[in-house]
Order: sequence, then C-alpha cells, then structure tokens
Amino acid sequence: MDHFDYRGGVLHAEDVDLAALAAEVGTPVYVYSAATLERHFRVFAAAVAGLGTGDPLVAFACKANPNLSVLATLARLGAGADVVSAGELARALAAGVPANRIVFSGVGKQVFELQAGVEAGILQFNVESEAEIEMLAAVAQAAGKRVDIAVRVNPGVDAKTHAKISTGGDDNKFGIPLSRAGAAFAQAAAHPSLRPVGIAAHIGSQLSDLGPLEATFGRMGGLVASLRAAGHSIERVDLGGGLGVPYRPDVAAPPSPADYGAMVARATKGWDVRLIFEPGRLIAGNAGVLLSRVILVKQGVGKAFVVIDAAMNDLLRPSLYGAWHDVQAVRATDERTTATLVGPICESGDTFADDREMPTVKAGDLVALMTAGAYGATMASTYNSRDLVPEVMVSGSDHAVVSARRVAADMMALDTRAPWLV
Ligand SMILES: *Cc1c(COP(=O)(O)O)cnc(C)c1O
Repeated sequence: MDHFDYRGGVLHAEDVDLAALAAEVGTPVYVYSAATLERHFRVFAAAVAGLGTGDPLVAFACKANPNLSVLATLARLGAGADVVSAGELARALAAGVPANRIVFSGVGKQVFELQAGVEAGILQFNVESEAEIEMLAAVAQAAGKRVDIAVRVNPGVDAKTHAKISTGGDDNKFGIPLSRAGAAFAQAAAHPSLRPVGIAAHIGSQLSDLGPLEATFGRMGGLVASLRAAGHSIERVDLGGGLGVPYRPDVAAPPSPADYGAMVARATKGWDVRLIFEPGRLIAGNAGVLLSRVILVKQGVGKAFVVIDAAMNDLLRPSLYGAWHDVQAVRATDERTTATLVGPICESGDTFADDREMPTVKAGDLVALMTAGAYGATMASTYNSRDLVPEVMVSGSDHAVVSARRVAADMMALDTRAPWLV
C-alpha cells in the first residue's frame, strides 16, 4: 500500500499536490512518500518479528535508494543497512544508522573499503571469496581489530527472475559455492583477526515466488548443521533481500511480507541463530514516483509517441531490464489512448512504455511513472548532458528537496581543457 492517491482529480503524494510540486521544483523529479517508506518498513519488520534468537536485524539494502533522507527516515525506525561500497557505508553512517546495524556485502570490496568498515566497527562483513578473506584478515590485523564475518554462499538456486538481477545461480559471480563454504569457514577461522560467525545468501531481486528462497534457506540450514558439526559456532544467518513488489496492476502481486515471514519461520525452525534480512525494493519501490512533463505528442507511421522530459538517464530500469512502470496522468482523466511513452534521448531504448494503453495526455500535462522509489534515482546519469534528476521527500503536507538538481553547467564546470587545447 502506498500514499499516492487522487484528491479532487489531482494525484497527491500524501497531502501534497503533485501538480503544484512540479510547478515549484520543476520536472523531471523523483518524489518519495515518507509515510510509505515507514509503512513498508514496519510491515516487513512485523512480518519477521520474533523469528530467530534475539531481535532480527532488518538491514535496508542501500543500493535500492541511498538518499540520505530515505536512509534517515528508516534509521529512525531502527533499520540497519546493507551497504556495498565505501560510499554507501558513509551514507548509512551519516544518516544515523548505528555501525553495529551495518552489514557490508559486495563481490569486489577494495582495501580502502574494508578499512572503512573495520574503522567504523560495523556488525559484519559478508565475504564473497576466499581471496577477500585474506584481504580482510590482513586489513583487520593491521588495524589491531578482530572483525565478524559471514560467508556469503552461492546456493546454486535459480531465482526465476530477470537474468540481470539473478544472483544465486552456479554461474553468477556472487558468493562462495556451497561445496567450498566449509573450507572457507576453516580458512577464516585460522585467522586470529577474523571471527566467522555466520553465513549469508541473496539470490536475486524482484522475486515473484517463494519457492527459490525456500530452497535456498533449506540448503543454508543444512550448511549451518554441517558447520556446527565441524566445530564452528554459528550465531547469525543473513537471508538477503529479493522480495518483489507489484509493478503492474494486471499481474498477480508477489508474495506478501506476511507470506514471506511464515515461510521463513518454517524454513529456519530450530536454527538457533539471529536472523538478518536485507530488503531493498520492498521498502522503497512503491514509496516513490518519477514526475515528468509531456514535451509534445507526435505521430509516427504506425505509432503515437508521447515525448516526456524524463528519459532513460533518469530512470534506467525500462531500458536496462525491460521493466514496466505504470503511467498515471497527474490530472485524472477518463480518456484513454494507446501510445508509446519515450524520453528525449537519442537512443531507441529510451522508451518507458511501448504501445501501451494509458491516460490521454497532451503537451504540458504531467505524468507520474509509478513504483520508481527503488533503483531509480540511484541509477541516474547525465547522459546527453542532461541535468541530474532531483529528489523530493514528502511527509504529510510538508515537502523538501532532498537531493538538488545538478544542472548541465555545473557538470561542465568539472571538465577542463587539456593544457594543449587552451
Ligand atoms: C541488491 C541486494 C539486496 C536487495 O535486494 P532487493 O531485491 O532490493 O530486496 C540485498 N542484499 C544484497 C547483497 C544485494 O545485492
């Protein structure tokens, strides 16, 4: 459930009129609803409350939306953070996430990033290779610290999602194959600077079926038992993220957090570990929209094109993954038409909706691309020397620009002429 609704015929984010907001801050612009973020976090936390020993840690996957205000909104509710770079670690800490609620994932953490995590005193590193175990052992030893690690395993399970966001199959780059997890644990345990305390997995994103997750957790349960039999103490298991969100009203909704929680309860029964979760999309996806203004409408040979001022550089998912975002007219209309919604960028992949039935709009009208709160602004670029898209957060009747538009002139100012061209 989100807080984007029509009031008096105009789409609102909570109590804020999106037409008025667009007039004030300009388009394109991402708009987030704080109440929706809060609601999604609470629903997920409630679905996993009481599972495992101690309090489960719900560590928001920052890569889904690393905006400082988004992270701070969640940190206030007790969220932890799953970070995958030194930049995300710095953001999580700046947003007020306590270090002991931060998990560091990633297949290619560099020495400076490991150092930053050790320095900050994060809860654990999820190590993804034998080579990383050696790198981290050396970094921790040099810092005179002992750090907790979980071995991220590749469970060899097909997540049955888009290939580009599937991460747990045998030929994916992530994690250590299950068959070598025991050896990796022994390798880590031999380093006095490392404390191997658990295992982790994350098999992919936008999962629409609990089956692959349940299969993964079953394999992890077997691994916990065999590691314990080998004399290791297993205190934590990180179950990753991946639960999908509804993007299309005409497609069956993915399993609910409650269904997921019930499955986790079954799958992890008797493990006697603290559980860690890393939801990203589920928390942020439906908490954001991309607002854009129609530049013009043009007729092709067989298609009608609606050209809007947002483009693939602002929201990459449709061109990267063929992703679907629902299109709404900010001023409600009953008129519908079939059109192709595109941005101004000089690539045919700059298409948000192809031959889709949608509300009829004309030049100057506003549209909202829905469910754009996750993997939206964070993937934005300045391709075609366009401005970097700004972000606004709404809370009740308040709103604030939480990431400023960076204009093309500012970006050009970072370029220099080579001395021989001056
Ligand atoms: C991307 C990612 C997540 C979050 O995935 P969602 O599908 O957004 O929930 C969690 N953990 C890891 C390690 C990731 O890479």
